Amino acid sequence: MTNPEAQAQFHEFNQRYFGGKLPRYRVRIVDYIPKQREHGRINRKQRLIDLLAGHQDACMIATLLHEMAHAATNDQHADRFMEEMKRLLSVGAPITYEADLKPYEEKERFTPKRLTRTFLRCAAEEAIMGAPTTSLRAFVRWFVLDYGYADSSAEFMRKFPWVSHVFREVKKDAKAFEKRRAQFLSKEVTAD
Ligand SMILES: [Zn+2]
Repeated sequence: MTNPEAQAQFHEFNQRYFGGKLPRYRVRIVDYIPKQREHGRINRKQRLIDLLAGHQDACMIATLLHEMAHAATNDQHADRFMEEMKRLLSVGAPITYEADLKPYEEKERFTPKRLTRTFLRCAAEEAIMGAPTTSLRAFVRWFVLDYGYADSSAEFMRKFPWVSHVFREVKKDAKAFEKRRAQFLSKEVTAD
């Protein structure tokens, strides 16, 4: 799919599935999307949608519709977004339940309605294990996008001021663990 094709596809989908109500967006095919597990991304402020190149057209089209569902709702994968995706599926848009809805539904099922320390701690451990230099800011941004609980990072930090404390604790534990592991490994080497 080329840039003009993607752009035309956006326009066609907007007419066909959104009643032409979505604002005008620029749609680009890009070779690289930093730190992103999805095949696309949206910047609602800049009215910009990026689709990752190198996938089959069907996959890129499903990604475009995923981003358009964000354009119609918000940046999260929570209730409003999921309802929009279900609506798209029910009106025959080219997405599938298995690939485009089920993974998000399953995630939703394991996400507690009220944010608990345990749940946040697990997420922080996962983030810090994957990238030890993760900052609180980057973590919160990622967490809000993935799990919701607030509309923005700033609102999230206001609602859950204890998060920074839990995050620092997890970082400290991870460092201590690394140190113990390094000590253990060096002892093993010098033991014989
Ligand atoms: Zn998304």
